[in-house]
Amino acid sequence: MKLRFFTFQLSLFTFVAMTAQTVSSPDGNLKVNLSVNAEGTPVYNVTFGGVAVVEDSPLGMATTVGDFTKGLALKEQTTPTTVSDKYTLANGKQANYEFTAVEQTFTYNRGNNPAFDVTFHVDNNNIAFRYKVYKQRDRLATMVRNEVTAFTMPEGTKTFLCPQMTPQGGFARTTPSYETFYEYGAEMGKNGQGRGYTFPALFETPANLWVMVCETGVDGSYCASRLECKGRTYTVTYPEDTEFGGVGTSAPGIMLPGYTPWRTITVGKTLAPMAETTIMWDVVAPRFEASQQYKYGRSVWSWIIRMDASCNFDEQKEYIDFAAQLGWEYILIDALWDTNIGYDRMAELVAYAKTKGVGVFLWYNSNGYWNDAPQGPRGKLHTMIERRKEMAWLKKVGVKGLKIDFVGSDKQQTMQLYEDIFADANDYGLMIIFHGCTLPRGWERMYPNFVACEAVRASENLSFSQNDNNIEALAATIHPVLRNAVGNMDFGGSALNKFYSKNNQRGNHRVTTDVYALATAILFQTPVQNFALAPNNLTDAPAWAIDFMKAVPTTWSNIRFIDGYPGRYIIMARQATDGKWYLAGVNATKEPLKVTLPLTMFPAGTDVTLYLNDSKTTQRVNKKQTLTVTIPTNGGVVVNN
Ligand code: CA
Repeated sequence: MKLRFFTFQLSLFTFVAMTAQTVSSPDGNLKVNLSVNAEGTPVYNVTFGGVAVVEDSPLGMATTVGDFTKGLALKEQTTPTTVSDKYTLANGKQANYEFTAVEQTFTYNRGNNPAFDVTFHVDNNNIAFRYKVYKQRDRLATMVRNEVTAFTMPEGTKTFLCPQMTPQGGFARTTPSYETFYEYGAEMGKNGQGRGYTFPALFETPANLWVMVCETGVDGSYCASRLECKGRTYTVTYPEDTEFGGVGTSAPGIMLPGYTPWRTITVGKTLAPMAETTIMWDVVAPRFEASQQYKYGRSVWSWIIRMDASCNFDEQKEYIDFAAQLGWEYILIDALWDTNIGYDRMAELVAYAKTKGVGVFLWYNSNGYWNDAPQGPRGKLHTMIERRKEMAWLKKVGVKGLKIDFVGSDKQQTMQLYEDIFADANDYGLMIIFHGCTLPRGWERMYPNFVACEAVRASENLSFSQNDNNIEALAATIHPVLRNAVGNMDFGGSALNKFYSKNNQRGNHRVTTDVYALATAILFQTPVQNFALAPNNLTDAPAWAIDFMKAVPTTWSNIRFIDGYPGRYIIMARQATDGKWYLAGVNATKEPLKVTLPLTMFPAGTDVTLYLNDSKTTQRVNKKQTLTVTIPTNGGVVVNN
């Protein structure tokens, strides 16, 4: 009897192991293969053209209503369904979005009760998957203590990762804020600076396939996550207890039944599927309707060159005039305006800007009780009553948007704050930029008044540190295929000053060329660009550079990755919403880079403008529609029609 029972168990195990499930992309090239291992842990792997890109990796989570990491069995599965959709975004990296994907859901039981579903959404280059956790007996809510969800990469994979920062570190206990340097092509096995890596994560496998891992759809109903690395396995990990001043739990709570965010895997032979991915938005839905049609554009920003001292009435008036001279739409007035200008005179300044056709964004401190950042205005946004009172005033005086700084946490409580700010701001017709903050995860579509997040080692560091200037071009080669590929990025760049100071004669200096500044205006995308131009550039920068920046667009119809390698160079093209194409490239290598640019977006025989070697020339597009150029070290190239 005992022997027969053992035999039965063995045959059941064999049965499960042999019936691995597969979800295939519409073209059949990208596959997710599912099984349950000997411990009863659901396991998945991913192949692309039959080549492993993610090896066997666990699925599941431990909750306060049950440990759903082992002892599970596949109970049932839906039939694969082809889903497709079209939508538009005015604030995203392109205008029109369209996808076709295969979706399939698998239900895992513990005993007789369903524990969770995992739903896979697989298109030709992207996978998104999420859990639905079931109610257990009469429990209608749970905390998810941890997930075992992981991404195990093939032996020999190279990594391009951004290490997670120490909580409550940096300026006035404001970290983590996604502001460390990337590691370019590092081996696996390290765990960043001891606390893993932020999303998005990029890998190059030994078969020269690119894999980007991220998450989307994160709002107040979950925390944002990061990846902890052990060996070759990168595991989804929740925020640290000490984030957000130690306030709020690190583990999220959810209603039951309830969903986790979507985790995403983007795969390609080149970096094009990363740069051009739309998976962050395909699987999320708008959380509310836009209260109005938000208007985007170019913005002047005195702080990046002149810092805190420039936050006074006269200099902000000078910058409003500067915006008007450029024909730009916005000014961003940074920290300390509440004391240095005051509320009454700010109303006067906003009214003056309006007469010049310039809209105003105002800086706010997010605090709150979670760090020591002293700049004002503070204490205005962290409670609903104060926030709505402040926003009513902002609407009354005609302010168009806010830049909210020093948020610095990925906890669920913080994600709820982000969401509440978006929702309230939309009621008052205000657009939102976050700084010192988390990565946006699908927010362009979820929150129609979302403009951008910083969540990058941005231009402020060019002002603070010469080292950041010395390696400035490196970052431009990775952001368009990684950080900026998954969400709008408020970098605040394109300086034409030689030095980061008001007199343009001392301070940290640029090692990049003026054409580099133009190229990054195209390579870095956000619908409201806070450029680092200064009024003196009207006379001390080349006229061709100023003329280019006067006409530069910030909203786009299309994106096309052409060539590049993170840390070396990048060539991309974007089509503006007015139909004009801009091709832009940057060289971060020590040698001049000779490249043949495809000009297929421009008709043969027509003239295009070439910006190269700090000059502007006209070129006739040849029959082959190619143009061979040599991009200098720390330089750029731009071609437009
Ligand atoms: Ca920052």
